[in-house]
Amino acid sequence: MHTENKTGLQKLACLSHREWEQLCDGCARCCLHKIEFEGTGEIVYTRIACRYLDQHSCRCGVYEERTRLVPTCCRLAPDNLEDVYFMPETCAYRLLAHGQPLASWHPLVSGDAASVHEAGISVRGRVVSESDVDSDDWPAYVIDWVQ
Ligand code: SF4
Ligand code: SF4
Repeated sequence: MHTENKTGLQKLACLSHREWEQLCDGCARCCLHKIEFEGTGEIVYTRIACRYLDQHSCRCGVYEERTRLVPTCCRLAPDNLEDVYFMPETCAYRLLAHGQPLASWHPLVSGDAASVHEAGISVRGRVVSESDVDSDDWPAYVIDWVQ
């Protein structure tokens, strides 16, 4: 692990629970289904969202129960950030874990919770629910605006 990563992770480990939760930019990119290719390990995102995502607010509708209801839902914590390589490149936790700054549209930087939507970073208006898509059709929903 690089020294800058260690520094970023150490800082994250010092955050209070409230500060940790506030770090989430509300983009909901992590609530999109991904396809991982066997062999290469390549991961691509689809615009298919978890059934519990409120597609307008981009917030989870079952936040306190999310990992029980959705076993693949990832509960981020300072001690698992090194393993969440599949999180979006814009994810605030991933950025800070790698010692990188938050973007200008992050609500903690802009002071405006709407800035993540206005900057086109959130999934608002761009996704469909997994309830409406047959799993065989997922490849047709691959996107390149989340990596
Ligand atoms: S990708 Fe990261 S910052 Fe965006 S909603 Fe998910 S946890 Fe929050
Ligand atoms: S359970 Fe909630 S946080 Fe987890 S993927 Fe679904 S909408 Fe996102």
